[in-house]
Amino acid sequence: MASTFPDYSIPQPDLAATTAQYGEFHTRLAAAESAADCLAIVADWDALLCQFKEWASLTYIHFQQDTQNESYKSAKDELDAIAPKYADLETRFKQALLDSPFRSELEETLTPTLFAKWECNTKSFASVIEDDMAAEAKLQSEYTALTAAAEIEFEGEKFTISELNKFGDDADRELREGAYRANSKWFIDKAPELDRIYDEQVALRQSMAVKLGYNNFTELGYQRMTRIGYGPDEVAAFRDEVRDKVVPLAIEVAKKQKQTLGVEKLMFWDHCVHTVGGNPKPQGDHDWMVDRATEMFDEMGAGLGSFFGEMKARGAMDLKSRKGKAGGGFCDFLHQFEFPFIFANFNGTRGDVDVFTHEVGHAFQSYSSRNQPMSDIVWPTTEACEIHSMALEFLTWPHMEKFYGEGAAEELRRLHLSAYLQFLPYGVSIDHFQHMVYANPEATPEERNEMWKEIERTYLPWWDYADLPAESSGRLWQQKAHIYQCPFYYIDYCLALTGALQFWSKSRTDAKGTLETYAELCTRGGSKDYTGLLKSAGLRSPFEPGCLDEVIEDAKRYLA
Ligand SMILES: [Zn+2]
Repeated sequence: MASTFPDYSIPQPDLAATTAQYGEFHTRLAAAESAADCLAIVADWDALLCQFKEWASLTYIHFQQDTQNESYKSAKDELDAIAPKYADLETRFKQALLDSPFRSELEETLTPTLFAKWECNTKSFASVIEDDMAAEAKLQSEYTALTAAAEIEFEGEKFTISELNKFGDDADRELREGAYRANSKWFIDKAPELDRIYDEQVALRQSMAVKLGYNNFTELGYQRMTRIGYGPDEVAAFRDEVRDKVVPLAIEVAKKQKQTLGVEKLMFWDHCVHTVGGNPKPQGDHDWMVDRATEMFDEMGAGLGSFFGEMKARGAMDLKSRKGKAGGGFCDFLHQFEFPFIFANFNGTRGDVDVFTHEVGHAFQSYSSRNQPMSDIVWPTTEACEIHSMALEFLTWPHMEKFYGEGAAEELRRLHLSAYLQFLPYGVSIDHFQHMVYANPEATPEERNEMWKEIERTYLPWWDYADLPAESSGRLWQQKAHIYQCPFYYIDYCLALTGALQFWSKSRTDAKGTLETYAELCTRGGSKDYTGLLKSAGLRSPFEPGCLDEVIEDAKRYLA
């Protein structure tokens, strides 16, 4: 095994050989006479699973690192084509384990959560929907291709959508408004196509749900997202909590923004800016930032310093922007390399610091959980995953002076908290909208826009679009890729944020103890379900009434 990421490569697994191995596993499982026999098979299966996962991860990472490299691109195409075949083999074997007469003993060793997760997997896939899934993936790619190809004219230059987003943080109000107008015009021009793609997706998702025996796609969507132990009713209660408790506070934050910015009316193009001079920016380039992050993690302790040292030594980060590199940021765990990898695109904004606080949070968690009994539970389910990343954003607060300097660091902390408080109502809006859409699969595109307008009135009453053409016609939701790409994912950020805010609140009175609790949570991976993980760290569940009360009081005090 190579010790550094740049030297690391593995061959593509052979599908025929893998299929034959699965055949053997099924035979051995059918003949197993004890739980111990089954566990030995599971261990062999996990090694085989990791071969494919490793190749898939590496293929994806390489393609993201250089989208113009022909061999990376053809490997990625090969992965897309072949992945459903591996999914089919995996799902069948999971079903065999779920049906095993030794299941209860296996659950004891491998954790009941793993079995609950496999149940979700098997309930959301069957060969009868294979073609529909391919068609859905094609529509998802259409959305990606359409939005990625955007070349929006602004101030005499052409920008992609994400490049244009940068202006939202700018101190110059006219520039912000202009950028929002250019963006809105692009989206209204593309509205017919965006309507068509979503209309087809909704119909397709409804039909897959019916084929699998569900009433509507919401039920299937929850299985796909591996929601364990809660359903749409609990999520609806959480949205109500946000509506009743957070919306009033978000309105207060907006009033303060209006005062700070000295504007007569706070407009939609003002909503990202919390300080007159524009939002704080880190004070150095990539290498400088890595040095500051090194100091920060060394000072924090709890294993973060040595972990980050190893991350550097193994070259497991690719953070600089360059031509041909895909946008965005992510973290993945390479099971055979036995180490995580993080990817980002530095652009001189506060987002660069987030890589060290958010993505390293994901990386540290996966590394801390690497010895869980199976690779499938190194990561928890996604609503729990984002607790580790978002909580580290808050736990690193005392170190922000390193990146931003004295005065700006405090501005940054207030901005960070304010922006997240305003995010919660937006996040639940995206979720509520999807519940409405899939409850009414026959609705027309125009009716969907009306649904969105109704949701905005409930959760986002301080947003004023003036005459921005896309937003004022109820189409803001079309700018949110998750609605097209990964239905029902978006609430995860809100659920996780509820946990992360509790870490923030606790750390204000006990920084050391809270960091220790955080580090312990990171070792648990997905060995428990979402609410089980919260409980293990002494955090309240978002599904309890009043779950946000303490953090809201604390946030009010902080921002007063
Ligand atoms: Zn994340």
